[in-house]
Amino acid sequence: MKKAYGAVIIGGGILGNATAYYMAKLGFKDVLVVEKNYIASGSTGRCAGGIRQQWDSEYNIKLAMGSVKIFERLEDELGFPTEYYQGGYLLLAYEESHAEWFRQRVQLQRSLGLDVRLLDPYEAKQIVPFINTDGLLAATFCPTDGHANPFLVTFGYYKAAQRLGVDYAVQTEVVDIEVKEDRITGVRLNTGDFVETEVVVNVAGGWAKEVAKMVGIDIPVNPQRHEIAVTEPLEMFFDPLIISFKHGIYFRQELSGGVIMGYGDPNEPWSHNIKSSFKFLRNVTAKVAAVMPLMDDVRILRQWAGSYAMTPDAQPIIGGVEQVEGYYQAVGFSGHGFMVGPKTAQLLAELIVLGQPSMSLEPLSLNRFKKGEIKREKAVI
Ligand SMILES: Cc1cc2nc3c(=O)[nH]c(=O)nc-3n(C[C@H](O)[C@H](O)[C@H](O)COP(=O)(O)OP(=O)(O)OC[C@H]3O[C@@H](n4cnc5c(N)ncnc54)[C@H](O)[C@@H]3O)c2cc1C
Repeated sequence: MKKAYGAVIIGGGILGNATAYYMAKLGFKDVLVVEKNYIASGSTGRCAGGIRQQWDSEYNIKLAMGSVKIFERLEDELGFPTEYYQGGYLLLAYEESHAEWFRQRVQLQRSLGLDVRLLDPYEAKQIVPFINTDGLLAATFCPTDGHANPFLVTFGYYKAAQRLGVDYAVQTEVVDIEVKEDRITGVRLNTGDFVETEVVVNVAGGWAKEVAKMVGIDIPVNPQRHEIAVTEPLEMFFDPLIISFKHGIYFRQELSGGVIMGYGDPNEPWSHNIKSSFKFLRNVTAKVAAVMPLMDDVRILRQWAGSYAMTPDAQPIIGGVEQVEGYYQAVGFSGHGFMVGPKTAQLLAELIVLGQPSMSLEPLSLNRFKKGEIKREKAVI
């Protein structure tokens, strides 16, 4: 580790590694990534790896479509396996309000060039024969949605960034950021070292609020526990990731056979708690079995939890800020930061290195909360 860097990135998840890689690729190689634990130890290594373009907000659709283009050629670009698989996402509406919302949303998504179809229950059953169609009103399917292995994707960016000259300090925490006359001057580490820099990138996931506080900024990003479980390996029997908005669940079958399932408890408070609970297991298994009855008999192998970094409109905050020169952030992904991570990191790197991203990040600026220009992303689970 040197005494000074052109930029210090705080966080070694998908965002930290991918941003470092894209900055170095643009020629800005004097970068240090600081990770307080190990690479992918945060939400990235705890996520379901789902990659979906079927969103409600136009910006999220574009960000996810841009990421899918990157995912499609990422193994070749990074020279590293990613286990990327396009098995589609099947979204189910068991309530009329959801069905109506699907109809409107598909129009917007198709107008943006997304290959997505509105299905009736019979057509949905052709795609996954085991779903419960009792009370099912409509579904949507996008064949280019899919999933990837979050560890492999992150390690791929990590190795590629290192090859381009990026430095790493793992098991090292940033404990303070020094700001003089509204400009970043350096970061203080828990080792006692001070690293000089004019650029800091906050990609600290569930701890983003604490890092922003180090430069005197209060951001509306709060950690919320989300739990997840995986079954014993089963013979492959369905391809897409399935979401039911009525039940608040998602589940998909891994390439190794296990069915990975998550449920977002709307009553979960803000906190850094990432302990597993029996309550979750009871909830998620009952809800998954309601949507796919043959899952009733299956054994759970493992469960874990991680943080969603929630914002008031369930959309991320990306870009610089007016108050502090040299401070950038990509935070508050509200449960979908893995899938939009590659495109977000590319745009953030362009902003930092070139001064201008190839797609405007203005709709996701911190300012939107001050201006009151917020519209909640409804498709979050
Ligand atoms: C159960 C669950 C399922 C999910 N499923 C999906 C999914 O299917 N698809 C999807 O797109 N998203 C999913 N997500 C959300 C996704 O995991 C996150 O949005 C994404 O991983 C965020 O990446 P990140 O790099 O911003 O943060 P993280 O991966 O959390 O990385 C931040 C890192 O910063 C480090 N850090 C924090 N503070 C400091 C400091 N002061 N100094 C040094 N290091 C620090 C942390 O140790 C951490 O490793 C899921 C999340 C959970 C919890």
